[in-house]
Amino acid sequence: MPTALKSFIAVAPDSHFPIQNLPFGIFKLAQDSPRVGVAIGEFVLDLSVLEELGHFRIPEFQDRPVFSESALNGFLALGRPAWRKAREVIQHLLAADTTALRDDGPLRDRVFHAQKDVAMQLPARIGDYTDFYSSYHHAHNVGTMLRGPENALMPNWKWLPVAYHGRASSIVASGAEVRRPHGQIKPPDAPAPIFGPSRSFDYELEAAFFIGPGNALGEPVPISRATDHIFGLVLMNDWSARDVQAWEYQPLGPFLAKNFCTSISPWVVMLEALESFRKPLPPQDPEPLPYLRAANDFTYDIQLEARLQTASMDAPHVITRTNFQNLYWSIAQQLAHHTVNGCNLQPGDLLASGTISGPTEEARGCMLELTWRGANPLTLPNGETRKWLEDGDSLTITGWAQGDGYRIGFGEVAGRVVPA
Ligand code: MN
Repeated sequence: MPTALKSFIAVAPDSHFPIQNLPFGIFKLAQDSPRVGVAIGEFVLDLSVLEELGHFRIPEFQDRPVFSESALNGFLALGRPAWRKAREVIQHLLAADTTALRDDGPLRDRVFHAQKDVAMQLPARIGDYTDFYSSYHHAHNVGTMLRGPENALMPNWKWLPVAYHGRASSIVASGAEVRRPHGQIKPPDAPAPIFGPSRSFDYELEAAFFIGPGNALGEPVPISRATDHIFGLVLMNDWSARDVQAWEYQPLGPFLAKNFCTSISPWVVMLEALESFRKPLPPQDPEPLPYLRAANDFTYDIQLEARLQTASMDAPHVITRTNFQNLYWSIAQQLAHHTVNGCNLQPGDLLASGTISGPTEEARGCMLELTWRGANPLTLPNGETRKWLEDGDSLTITGWAQGDGYRIGFGEVAGRVVPA
């Protein structure tokens, strides 16, 4: 993507949404029904109007008005050739030297809405949600806390992308408050568990990708075809109740410690927008089994941050600085592994990375690691300390790929903790 590409819409150099990005989402204006839009600068471009006017006469669309739907699922099912053509149409219409929209005032008034005036919804009806555990440093830190450094990683960890099936119904769009959950908690010295609100409430900085066309039950997706099925990425906060998790997780993994709320950012950044930020996946040792090997497997250079703002702070404070490249397993490997047994993915399914921690202390993607299970509380700029998130705390995750004079941004996923 040439950096010279410019829109007639003014876009600040640090905006997350230049014409090189064009992420898709579902927006809602006061009285209207939700529909599909694309972010450009501080605006949302209403694709349903452009579709109605015949701008998307693309054979793959088969005259189905996918952009007036209240979820991206119809569009996701169409696949990469259709996605690319739609992106080209939008990029052309927004380009500085294209007059169709630029010089038509009444049409501009119909199709552009200030982002501050719309409510963003979940991008898709999420049928199934899976959370991986693909950051080596996260797995190693957590394993060290639970089992000591000698046995930090389970024997399977470097052979397969470990994951659990999560709960799709409790995934919410950024901005929703998150209620501190109640659950069973077993204090270390108590003979029996107690019941009450979680006392060790946490965030997890993650990324996640949306599935486009699915695969039939019984038909694995080979790793070489994995990206045909991946539309794009969002940011995710996998809110976690660590005390509930510690008591419940063996032998079948996370359950009520996770499925009370999971927040995602509303704009889905297409793989096409991230193309210039691809990096080769670092060599893996041991070499994975053949079904997890791809000739040009890749990751992305995406900077990621988590910011905490307590009720008495004036401004948010960055507590995590990490990068998408800290993931050991690639998105193609995650998808190939997920389907290798014939498991069928469907349009709108969400596959998440797991907490993205890196090798340094500031790159730890959750309080569990940052405070080493509460042993080393964080000290915030106003002198407050935190072992875990407290009621009234707001946690915001943001991320962007830095280009030459522009950013491919994800916006943010934010949420405030409210009492149980
Ligand atoms: Mn997680």
